[in-house]
Amino acid sequence: MFMRYHRMNAQKLSGEGLMITSTRTSLDLVEATPAGKRLPPWLKRPLPSGNGQFFTDNLLAELRLETVCDNARCPNRPECYSRKTATFMVLGNQCTRPCGFCSVPKGEPEPLEADEPDRVAEAAFRMGLRHVVITSVTRDDLPDGGADHFRQCIVAVRERTGAAVEVLTPDFMGDMASVDIVMAGAPEVFNHNLETVPRLYRRARGKADYRRSLDVLGHVKKNHPQSLVKTGLMLGLGETNDELMDVLADLRSVGCDMLTLGQYLAPTLRHMAVERFVPPAEFDMLRDLALKMGFGHVASGPFVRSSYHAGETAAQAVATGA
Ligand code: SF4
Repeated sequence: MFMRYHRMNAQKLSGEGLMITSTRTSLDLVEATPAGKRLPPWLKRPLPSGNGQFFTDNLLAELRLETVCDNARCPNRPECYSRKTATFMVLGNQCTRPCGFCSVPKGEPEPLEADEPDRVAEAAFRMGLRHVVITSVTRDDLPDGGADHFRQCIVAVRERTGAAVEVLTPDFMGDMASVDIVMAGAPEVFNHNLETVPRLYRRARGKADYRRSLDVLGHVKKNHPQSLVKTGLMLGLGETNDELMDVLADLRSVGCDMLTLGQYLAPTLRHMAVERFVPPAEFDMLRDLALKMGFGHVASGPFVRSSYHAGETAAQAVATGA
């Protein structure tokens, strides 16, 4: 079993019975009701100015590319698009898994598009990206889970732009041969998100397995040491701090280098409800704790997502020898 690590004295995460309505703010965030509960002040931000968003939107439309920013209704989309950055989502926009937190469409998977790697590379080139993040829907219908398509995207982006590449992959059903196919592209960062604590997997990641995801991360760390290994967790789904600490300890036990911790926000009423809004000071405390546990880099804050400022994050991780 997974070892126990450090017990925090911080209070147990407590559900507040929040309901999420579909009311949208100017930042496309959900509002929490009833009982007068609304988004806490730290989750309200002004919209960015400038026309970078239009550039990014138009380019993605022209090249017929999907992003997780759009499909997952990421709250950082205005900021990231205005900075002319995005996380490309390949292998179609129909996911084969029904995760309870995620708004990426589920349904009949689409045929692979052979020119998609080149279109991703072209977009990355025109956006001037120096760190390109590529993710995908989960494709359990494909024999390799889409691994070779990932590899082709990495190669195409590197050839066209010379940029560093970060992949955020599914678990490939634990098939390490598929993981190795992705790693044949030698991405600078391999990211696979655990998303939440094992007790919540049934609701949050119905077809996933906590141990299997840990094994994927451990396999990459052991067999592809040239790449940084990264994962991310959403907070506020009902996890306790003890459970969270156990997960961080498990991650260190498989050698995970980089960690992101962010606030879960329900994309719609049909998705898992937010149980708690974690205050910024608690995110700071968790970051410090995780660093003490040995992670080389930790990004922790309400708006942190696995790809948020990913380039700066990876550069810091390299600089600190993660
Ligand atoms: S944080 Fe990541 S997913 Fe969200 S908008 Fe930015 S690049 Fe896209």
